[in-house]
Amino acid sequence: MTVICWFRRVLRLDDHPALVAAAQGGPVIPLVILDPLEALAHPASAQRQAMALPGLAAALQARGSRLVVRRGDPATVLAQVIRDSGAMAVHASEGMPFARDEGLHDAVRAAGAALHLHPLADLVPRGSVLTRTGTPFKVFTPFWRVLRQTAIAAPLPAPRLPAPDAWPDSDGLEWPEARAAMNRGWPVMARHVQAGEATAHDRLEAFLDRITAGYAERRDLPAEGDATSSLSDALAVGEISARRIWHRTLHAQDQGRGGTEDFLRELAWRDFARDLFHASPDMDRTCWRREWDGFSWQGDNADAEAWRQGRTGIALVDAGMREMFATGRMHNRVRMIAASFLVKHLMIDWRVGLDWFARCLTDWDAASNAMNWQWVAGCGPDASPFFRVFNPEGQAGRFDARRLYRDHWLRGEGARDFAKAVPRSWGFDPDHRPAPLVDLDAGRQRALAAYRGFARKD
Ligand code: FAD
Repeated sequence: MTVICWFRRVLRLDDHPALVAAAQGGPVIPLVILDPLEALAHPASAQRQAMALPGLAAALQARGSRLVVRRGDPATVLAQVIRDSGAMAVHASEGMPFARDEGLHDAVRAAGAALHLHPLADLVPRGSVLTRTGTPFKVFTPFWRVLRQTAIAAPLPAPRLPAPDAWPDSDGLEWPEARAAMNRGWPVMARHVQAGEATAHDRLEAFLDRITAGYAERRDLPAEGDATSSLSDALAVGEISARRIWHRTLHAQDQGRGGTEDFLRELAWRDFARDLFHASPDMDRTCWRREWDGFSWQGDNADAEAWRQGRTGIALVDAGMREMFATGRMHNRVRMIAASFLVKHLMIDWRVGLDWFARCLTDWDAASNAMNWQWVAGCGPDASPFFRVFNPEGQAGRFDARRLYRDHWLRGEGARDFAKAVPRSWGFDPDHRPAPLVDLDAGRQRALAAYRGFARKD
């Protein structure tokens, strides 16, 4: 009985529960669906996925299998491929947000097959790390303590993949809608991406060879590009599993590598975000602390546009926004500062920022993006309190003391990359130095006054 394995943001053969289950069911058709709507909402992430496909296709071919790629709406495509192949079952990983998969079951059933959704190979199954009273954790540190005591399941080896007698047609490996949505940006971004499952494993090994006890401090320095693993995009498109990273890191720890415990702790934030999102699937649209939906955020406006285009006049914020637009990544500390500047100094709704990150990040992940934006905005669980307003100049002095990061993105090679990536409609002038959108102290006072007014009403 032929079965379909839908590679849904899990673009690998290693540690892929849906693929293992499919291979037990009979000859497997590996399927990737390129949804035009996904490309419009998340162009950089879609283009990053497309860049993983040649490696995936080659790895399947080396095992006597094939990658079938179809463009279109997932429910419609699944029904077509079921009809074309006579498959009786579809295996896939569960999607995120977790609650929005109902329509798929109906479409697959109507086409005459059954849809089996499998857990993602995260560190722990969703909702399994609980407080003593059986509720999900709202604070990271106790979550981490319990997770650290939990036995993390071993990664699953890639299965043997029996081939079907006939293969359904395939579209090409490119995702034209993603390229079109990224406009001049995609060739620039492509130079900054290292794609593919084998590459992700090599990158992990290289990182574990160089990690030291200094990781916890160096990970905050944006000019120190090799201080962190840079594996978040590979994790987001599923080229490597969190479980594989965990077990390899434990092995390095057994061999005495410093910094590995801090690295494992960072990795656990991703699972924490997923547990929160599992418990509150509208977390990307609604304040986790509901009362914050009544806060006097401003909507999208000209200041937000200046922020998106990296011309707020605040050097570290602009450097970060440029880094993200050109490369699809932004350093974690700079993400916090750029996000804080939007929601506090400019008082703009965190969802405006979340949506822009969701368009630009190659590591876009619905849960991590939502949790971190709500953390910065002060409306999430375990959030940074609203009255903690990052001073971007002070942060720059502390974490980019030699100005290397800012100079790279405002004057150096990074600035030239950004100039090549921006749409012509932005009218970007590399020699123009914008004045600050807001005086930092006045902006801080305005945010605190709004917060005091809100807290009184509360
Ligand atoms: P490393 O230091 O090597 O850490 C290893 C792994 O731990 C990362 O790859 C990542 O999977 C996980 N991790 C580390 N920090 C965090 C964190 N704060 N939250 C969740 N997971 C974490 N990360 C995403 O993967 N996708 C997003 O859409 C995303 N949006 C963000 C939005 C904002 C406003 C902020 C402040 C942070 C966001 N992050 C997001 C978290 C973080 O910035 C990136 O995961 C990090 O930059 C990845 O770099 P790295 O792989 O070199 O990290």
